[in-house]
Amino acid sequence: MKPLLKAEGLEVSFGGVKAADGVNLTIHEGEFVAIIGPNGSGKTTFLNLCTGYLRPSSGTVWLEDRKITAMAPRLIARKGIARAFQIPQLFTDHTVIENVMLALAAHRNIWEALTPLNRPAYVEEAMELLELLGLEEHAKTIAGTLPEGLRKLADVTVAMALRPRLLLLDEPTSGVSALERFPLMDTLMKAMRAQNITALFVEHDMEIVEKYADRVVVWDSGQVMAEGRPDTVMKDPRVLKSVVGA
Ligand code: ADP
Repeated sequence: MKPLLKAEGLEVSFGGVKAADGVNLTIHEGEFVAIIGPNGSGKTTFLNLCTGYLRPSSGTVWLEDRKITAMAPRLIARKGIARAFQIPQLFTDHTVIENVMLALAAHRNIWEALTPLNRPAYVEEAMELLELLGLEEHAKTIAGTLPEGLRKLADVTVAMALRPRLLLLDEPTSGVSALERFPLMDTLMKAMRAQNITALFVEHDMEIVEKYADRVVVWDSGQVMAEGRPDTVMKDPRVLKSVVGA
């Protein structure tokens, strides 16, 4: 498999706390990788290092053969890394389709998008994305009124409008009812596979990790403590102790 994202020797500290303590990790094209680990172990810090919201004191992040470590978040997004869920990114008083069209426009040329002549093409493209996420019936719903599960899908639609190669998801099923979480993940997986998107997701729900992740990476004290197939990694006594508290 071809490496898509590669982190080498990432270090960053806050005060005396090493939030990244020599992180090495490679994500391959087409993988669906889960990140697990206790609170405060550095999972969010890693996502921030990959998206340019944090700069490491040392180490490098590569997207294919391009160094993205010192790039601005906006440029990294353009190069193909999008993030969903961490910050509510929807304009809550606009409709779902308007949100998707705005994301499409932001990613392209805003002037081109504002030309009335181009509007039908933008509507069509936004609708295609919404259909992919099963949201076509909610296109004209005001985003702020969506129930949590649908809001999460709308967040992903907006992130996918940036046409990413790699999508970073922060706890895709948090706040969603037990019954809804598997259908939500099924929809997400299907949409991402259809668009050839590689995904990296932080997750606390071990059932979701076991069912959906091709590979799981276990974080502990700013480091990658273990990685591998979920069925193998979840049997590692060190992982059980750190993550499950067993
Ligand atoms: P996780 O996502 O695994 O819960 P984080 O990456 O949020 O962990 O945090 C790792 C460590 O870095 C924690 O000790 C946290 O308090 C600290 N940390 C993270 N971001 C900041 C920040 N902006 N300022 C100060 N400390 C931070």
